[in-house]
Amino acid sequence: MNTRQPPAHAEIRGFGTVGHCLTIADIPLTELAESVGGTPFYAYDSGLITRRIDHLRRCLPNEVKLHYAVKANPMPEVVRLLTELVDGLDVASVGEMRLALEAGMPAAEVSFAGPGKTVAELTQAVAAGIVVMLESPGEMERLHGIAREAGKRPKVAVRVNPDFELKASGMKMGGGPKPFGIDAEQVPEILLRLAELDLEFHGFHIFSGSQNLQAEALIEAQRKTLDLAAALARHAPERPRFVNIGGGFGIPYFPGDQHLDIEKVGEHLAARLDRLADELAATDIVIELGRYIVGEAGIYVCRVVDTKLSRGRKFLITDGGLHHHLALSGNFGQVLRKNYPVAIANKMDLPADEVVDIVGCLCTPLDRLGDKVLLPRSGTGDLVVVFQSGAYGLTASPTGFLSHPPPREVLV
Ligand SMILES: *Cc1c(COP(=O)(O)O)cnc(C)c1O
Repeated sequence: MNTRQPPAHAEIRGFGTVGHCLTIADIPLTELAESVGGTPFYAYDSGLITRRIDHLRRCLPNEVKLHYAVKANPMPEVVRLLTELVDGLDVASVGEMRLALEAGMPAAEVSFAGPGKTVAELTQAVAAGIVVMLESPGEMERLHGIAREAGKRPKVAVRVNPDFELKASGMKMGGGPKPFGIDAEQVPEILLRLAELDLEFHGFHIFSGSQNLQAEALIEAQRKTLDLAAALARHAPERPRFVNIGGGFGIPYFPGDQHLDIEKVGEHLAARLDRLADELAATDIVIELGRYIVGEAGIYVCRVVDTKLSRGRKFLITDGGLHHHLALSGNFGQVLRKNYPVAIANKMDLPADEVVDIVGCLCTPLDRLGDKVLLPRSGTGDLVVVFQSGAYGLTASPTGFLSHPPPREVLV
């Protein structure tokens, strides 16, 4: 074995081929490219999303409630599909709140987290009757003022900035000084104040991190989260109706990443819930996931519009780019750029015999889709497909940059 060979990408699951063409939901990509009206486009497979939810339900304890974090992929058709499949939607803006309500999710199952909610946003959330995750003492007081004025008692949960972090996470969202949530040690005092206000206490929200592939780290964080929630519940004005213990389940993007052992996470959580503290005996345990639900169900497809050789390197120049898919270019939370899994969609299973650089059409050296990728020999007209693109793709991209049209999106 050549030990200098870089580690391979984790296996891509759920897609097929017809002839040499990749299929999504049994549709060859060459056909899909025509029916959507050309490249570039995102396609999301509703069957894969549905099967992912089924798998989660099988692996997680029955009593766990599953929420979808809309920010991972707010395409209205995706949100509508997930409204049928999950128990609640977590939103991070009034725009996402509208999507969730228009998709038909009952207001009581929609929760709104995020720092910096304005008075106007809080007012709309109160009017809609959704659950507001309190991110700071100031926000709690402002919400109380709005509630009093409106003659309402909004449903609230206290978002806690835990006194631990989720180890080995792509993005840490808790532990240490953070703009998210109220520091765990301040929460008992906040709860005393909350009991005096026109707010209906519903529970806690403790989200410690994101994009985690290590079952052990997630198991430890879940254990600490439930311990913390039980300790804080002793100070609450009423029994918490729910504790949202976050999620953080990751998907493999880069060479060397392994699929998360979700069965193991589920088994440990089941054992932990069997001996839940009395304080949480009547409490719903909520897990919120974005990326894990939609990430692997989506692809981004663009077309090679030019090729060139420059000082010994071959470039495939595509009609796509970072304006559609910032994360792919390595500029969304990555420190060192690594390649997403990519393929030539109309040349699947052909021998990979050429190392190429794949770039987008933007006039910036940041616009890289693949560095030194080994692919079948390809040229103008071929379709480049990027896997693991169903979450934080279009929604996390600067579509205004260079004023190209936005890509199409389809749910198939
Ligand atoms: C972004 C976010 C999520 C979703 O994270 P994923 O990595 O997509 O699962 C869940 N909860 C909160 C509070 C978030 O901010």
